[in-house]
Amino acid sequence: MGKVALGVALGVAVTTCAVAAVVVGRRVRSRRKWKRVVGVLKELEESCETTVGRLRQVVDAMAVEMHAGLASEGGSKLKMLLTFVDNLPSGSEKGTYYALDLGGTNFRVLRVELGGQRSSVLDQDVERQPIPQQLMSGRSEDLLDFIASSLQQFDENANDFEKSSIRKELGFTFSFPVKQTSVSSGILIKWTKGFAIKDMVGEEVAGALQQALDRKGLNMRVAVLVNDTVGTLALGHYHDADTVAAVIIGTGTNACYWERTDAIIKCQGLLTTSGGMVVNMEWGNFWSSHLPRTSYDIELDAESPNSNDQGFEKMISGMYLGEIVRRVILKMSQESDIFGPVSSSLSMPFSLRTPLMAMMHEDDSPELTEVARILKNVLEIPDVPLKARKLVVKVCDVVTRRAARLAAAGIVGILKKIGRDGSSGITGGRSRSDIKMRRTVVAVEGSLYTQYTMFREYLHEALHEILGEDIAQHVILKVTEDGSGIGAALLAASYSSKSVDNVQLL
Ligand code: ADP
Ligand code: MG
Repeated sequence: MGKVALGVALGVAVTTCAVAAVVVGRRVRSRRKWKRVVGVLKELEESCETTVGRLRQVVDAMAVEMHAGLASEGGSKLKMLLTFVDNLPSGSEKGTYYALDLGGTNFRVLRVELGGQRSSVLDQDVERQPIPQQLMSGRSEDLLDFIASSLQQFDENANDFEKSSIRKELGFTFSFPVKQTSVSSGILIKWTKGFAIKDMVGEEVAGALQQALDRKGLNMRVAVLVNDTVGTLALGHYHDADTVAAVIIGTGTNACYWERTDAIIKCQGLLTTSGGMVVNMEWGNFWSSHLPRTSYDIELDAESPNSNDQGFEKMISGMYLGEIVRRVILKMSQESDIFGPVSSSLSMPFSLRTPLMAMMHEDDSPELTEVARILKNVLEIPDVPLKARKLVVKVCDVVTRRAARLAAAGIVGILKKIGRDGSSGITGGRSRSDIKMRRTVVAVEGSLYTQYTMFREYLHEALHEILGEDIAQHVILKVTEDGSGIGAALLAASYSSKSVDNVQLL
């Protein structure tokens, strides 16, 4: 071989080696990056762990906090608010009643016709409207006038029979923490779920709505002021007398239940003819060191307008799940370029709404085309490889599973407090299966539960794990569609027909 040929051959060999080294180097780097992304997922999984042991600790903490909140004002992060609802609809209610449901993304007006026999809601009419963003943080008068106008319009649309001069009774579902002063009045404690109308905090809510109705000349009386959970419990109980609690899992989350008045220690001398009263837990504000908290939760909370508040809600409800997932994907894309350069949409808080997150989670196409579409169109992350798309689905799964399992633990916490979790007899040496468990129904409402199959399935699974099959078979979760609104109309019916107030504060 001549010198030239040898030189060329050597040159080629060197170049080949260099190219190979670059390729190998790139592979090593990309493997390292992939490892880092997988590390983010692993860390998330570990910090979101909800073993049944941990869930039982949450159950106990919930029951303990309920006791503390009932013992004294400010005794717990659980407010355990009195509702003054001391009787749930009996089924004998008759006539046409209205309800307004304000408390989340949509606001609803309802008209319900009751036939006077159990379970006979003869007719109902619902109109949904989104609340204009600017009204959520403006002046209270603007919001209430907007609501009153919608009610007026709704009434005008009603048939002629409805246009009588008889005063109409209205149930007002207002799903924010309210210090109730009677069944038809209460003072707003604080806003949640993104509302921030400053001049309404500390004000009497039903009275303010009544004034707005009067301004519009509507012959309508706010007969009851209730929380959405209370409306849901009312409708649940109307259909099934074994209903003892209600849970909402939608934009926010909350629960209420039927409590004996003698257990409401902070309100000594509370007397009701029924001996009980519905207690609005405001469980969104529940907190316990047993809750599995991640760095994403801490950051989300710190950046929220209500930090240190609504800790349970921030782990569970529809307002936040998509946002937690967005934060995890952002972290992943900062750790590696697997998602390309960080897009401005991905950096924008709340850009991933929970229904879209649910769509990604439930994408069962082999190529995960829905995940690719949402990543591209919503978060502006195009061309994500399949293995990274699978990772995104896993993130959704971890976040939703934790949320659903915590909600299940919360429900069992209520059952434990009222002795319906089957645990009270165990100390006597009897096995769980010997305990005579009463049929126990929990009414559930909210789109996260009703629309998100994986969420619902995880919740049911956890309920069975915590309670055990023998007990769980006696606990029924029942969807009470539109319960928050129809229930308020039912309560308006039962309270407007009562001439005497049953509740006495001695
Ligand atoms: P609200 O709580 O506002 O009264 P909903 O009970 O309908 O009303 O809950 C709405 C919330 O539920 C939305 O903010 C969203 O987070 C969540 N949601 C709605 N649809 C879905 C869905 N298909 N999958 C998952 N979450 C959903
Ligand atoms: Mg609702």
